[in-house]
Amino acid sequence: MVVGYGKKLRVKTREVNKKAKKSYKCPSCSRTKVKRTANGVWACKKCGTKYASGAFEFKS
Ligand SMILES: [Zn+2]
Repeated sequence: MVVGYGKKLRVKTREVNKKAKKSYKCPSCSRTKVKRTANGVWACKKCGTKYASGAFEFKS
């Protein structure tokens, strides 16, 4: 029996969404303007630099 599996999955999804929607600090211009544009692709809204990083979390 798989009790509680669905609940755990929902919590994890919520965490991931929170990280994916967050703005991250740009290593290039130091502004917190890096947003996810696609899976694994992040772009700085300030200086336009694009980064390949985690699918749901920006790691500089
Ligand atoms: Zn930038």
